[in-house]
Amino acid sequence: MKYVSTRGLAPIASFEDVLLTGLAPDGGLYVPAAWPTLSAAQIKAMRGRPYANVAADLMTRFAGDAFTKARLHEIAEDVYRHFDHPDVAPLRQVGEEDWILELFHGPTLAFKDFAMQLLGRFFDDVLARRDERLTIIAATSGDTGAAAIDALKSCEHVDIVVLHPEGRVTDVQRRMMTTINAPNVLNIAVDGAFDDCQAIVKQLFADRSFVEDVKLGGVNSINWARLAAQTVYYFTAVASLTGNDKAINFVVPTGNFGDVFAGYVAKQMGLNVGRLVVATNTNDILHRAMTTGDYAPAGVSPTVSPSMDIQVASNFERLLFDVMGRDANALREKMEAFNNDGEMQLSADNRTRISADFASYATTEEATINEIRNHHRTTSELIDPHTAVARAAAQKLRAKGELVGKTVTLSTAHSAKFPEAVKRATGVAPTLPAAHAELFNKTEHMIHASNDVTAIKHAITSRAGRSG
Ligand SMILES: *Cc1c(COP(=O)(O)O)cnc(C)c1O
Repeated sequence: MKYVSTRGLAPIASFEDVLLTGLAPDGGLYVPAAWPTLSAAQIKAMRGRPYANVAADLMTRFAGDAFTKARLHEIAEDVYRHFDHPDVAPLRQVGEEDWILELFHGPTLAFKDFAMQLLGRFFDDVLARRDERLTIIAATSGDTGAAAIDALKSCEHVDIVVLHPEGRVTDVQRRMMTTINAPNVLNIAVDGAFDDCQAIVKQLFADRSFVEDVKLGGVNSINWARLAAQTVYYFTAVASLTGNDKAINFVVPTGNFGDVFAGYVAKQMGLNVGRLVVATNTNDILHRAMTTGDYAPAGVSPTVSPSMDIQVASNFERLLFDVMGRDANALREKMEAFNNDGEMQLSADNRTRISADFASYATTEEATINEIRNHHRTTSELIDPHTAVARAAAQKLRAKGELVGKTVTLSTAHSAKFPEAVKRATGVAPTLPAAHAELFNKTEHMIHASNDVTAIKHAITSRAGRSG
């Protein structure tokens, strides 16, 4: 399997390269040179197979010769064994033609565990082979940091540094990061907002000598290996509901366009996917782009679904590459113009092609809270605010006749990760699963830093090598 950059000026890369690099050197994103495809019979045969088995099978198609088939099976079994539901990604029926796909049974209770846990093992294998050590850095608004720390805390060849905006993540989110006591983990609480953390990470990557010194790497959602791992639950859902005979729609709580793009990839691979609904909160750049053609960032406003509070959706470039007929030169011009002007216009043709696969809806804060309340009233189940954004979108689009037939809504986080919003909506405080019962009794480990790249550099270098 070969990977090409969406901007066309980077060398062709292997799975191992794209795993370790993230962004392509020409500023583009890596995508497979051609989509791997499966026959309807192969997909049907996934029905009833364990999740780990399907995951290893699909990853084989993306990973080329980076790992043996046997090793991928070993890794996948080892990783998904630790999820606290036997189905790993169980479906729960909530209406005649409606299901919720529960993606919060991993170690940090959000869907990011699905990919991150595999990535941790992939890193360790590849780095051991190369006799190298990497410092992974991530800025987090909550979920990515916890997922990355849990996935990498036992890695022998990786140090992990996570920047979170002090006081702007929930207590549960912070404690899931800071109560892990491992020599290769460094939590930094930054006196600033999530955007400041992200800006610091960008500045660190721009300093080539710093990157070389600490061997800096990233795991943000543009990493191709994460998207590849996220195709798996689309396959297991369709295989179990229709055996690929009939199309299934998916409604996806969307921020950086990673998770929903994985659904698009699954469709290109032969999966019978109907409509993919991009469900956003009030930070709705994607919904505006799809309905008006204006891809124009507005300031980020904080919501009860903070993991989707974004300015621009990085992975959207991967979709544009496809809808522009994989014309890397045309896409590069478009992205360069976007960088200069701060906004871009999608052509009528691009929009037509996008709407062949996608629909979109932006849910207000009020509707999100109402949906948590309604869902609890009608099913006695608690859903988290991200899931509620998507459930509200599904019902609105169904009522408008824009969503027809069997539909799966992705539930991306456990309600107990966002207790304030859930309690406000329902009057019920969600309880953490047993594995996290001691979360509030454990000691926290973190350092505090000002919103200043030099201070953060110092904090990282003074720790580097501590565990190596
Ligand atoms: C990260 C995240 C999202 C958004 O996923 P993208 O891949 O960035 O679109 C949605 N819900 C939760 C709970 C998340 O952590």
